[in-house]
Amino acid sequence: MSEKKKLLVSGAAGFIGTNFLEKALSKGHKILAIDCLKYSGIKNNVNRFNDKKNFEFKKIDILNKKKLERCIKNFRPNFIINFAAESHVDRSIERPMSFIETNCLGVINFLQCIKELKLTNITKLVQISTDEVYGEVSFPATENNRYMPNSPYSASKASADLFIRAWDKTFKLKNIILHPSNNYGPRQFPEKLMPLIITNALYKKKLPIYGDGMQTREWIFVDDTVDAILQCLQKKDLIGHLNIGSGQRYTNLQIVKKICLILDSLLNEKKFKHSSLIYFTKDRPGHDKKYAINSKIAINKLGWKPKTTIEDGLLKTVKWYIDNEKWWKEILKKKYDGGRLGLIKK
Ligand code: NAD
Repeated sequence: MSEKKKLLVSGAAGFIGTNFLEKALSKGHKILAIDCLKYSGIKNNVNRFNDKKNFEFKKIDILNKKKLERCIKNFRPNFIINFAAESHVDRSIERPMSFIETNCLGVINFLQCIKELKLTNITKLVQISTDEVYGEVSFPATENNRYMPNSPYSASKASADLFIRAWDKTFKLKNIILHPSNNYGPRQFPEKLMPLIITNALYKKKLPIYGDGMQTREWIFVDDTVDAILQCLQKKDLIGHLNIGSGQRYTNLQIVKKICLILDSLLNEKKFKHSSLIYFTKDRPGHDKKYAINSKIAINKLGWKPKTTIEDGLLKTVKWYIDNEKWWKEILKKKYDGGRLGLIKK
């Protein structure tokens, strides 16, 4: 039996946040969800839970310390699970400052609130960091790998982790830092590789591959990440860093080809091959060739294991986008036109 907790979930209207809400609410946790509803924060991702008794949503920017403090003081959560972030590497190349603000200062606001409200023994921060803090690797990174971030995004996430470490050492705050690898699944904003490819393919638009497409990523289905986070809440004395990966590593080109094959079989459009839409385009500046992590510590400590194979996860994801056109078509109409982001303008 899992113990029910009071959770403040920030960045709840984003991709991993909304998938987390779905499972955490079904387990009976009492949740106060917050989000400032930036471009990747989708109102429907939180509104769909409005009828749940154990759920409340407040529109709050984590950079607004006064509001944040008031909400933490009143709610007194057992855990603050921080998904809130600027999360797209390409956008971090175009406007790094907003990454530094939200991803660093926002996290410091949480740390300061816990410290100043004297909630050190009541509230633990679960920071959703990333595997990208380790930078490009040749071998799967362990939690002891050096931080070698190469993009403004990963540098901002790495900085936040260092502030969390400092508040732990200096002010005795107890925290958990999770390093998930590349997540995929339903409700991911269509700027990211998989939803971009799926939605473009459904429109019969070209499928862009950055550079030679040989960049390797470790792909974890979002439900598996959510399960790992939920397990963390049940481990009383857990603190420190944990890698959360699947061990399933594929190049971007392999992933795109797999998506094309699934679409070929689901849509059954006679002789049309979705892979004929693939084209190669200018690479991302500073593009890391390979991310890979070793998740043995999480597997041992959490009693958790990623369950979803890439084949099952991709099939579920593609089907979700086929069945939920309204969700992503509205985004493409109002928030993002599917165009290329993150090229350095001369
Ligand atoms: P996302 O972009 O879909 O969601 C981010 C959410 O944060 C959005 O709802 C946005 O409105 C909100 N937000 C942004 N700035 C805010 C602010 N100042 N105040 C309040 N809310 C704010 O991102 P995601 O893919 O769901 O990622 C969630 C977290 O997981 C991020 O911290 C990201 O760095 C981390 N992560 C993601 C992946 C992945 O593959 N998606 C992998 C590893 C780590």
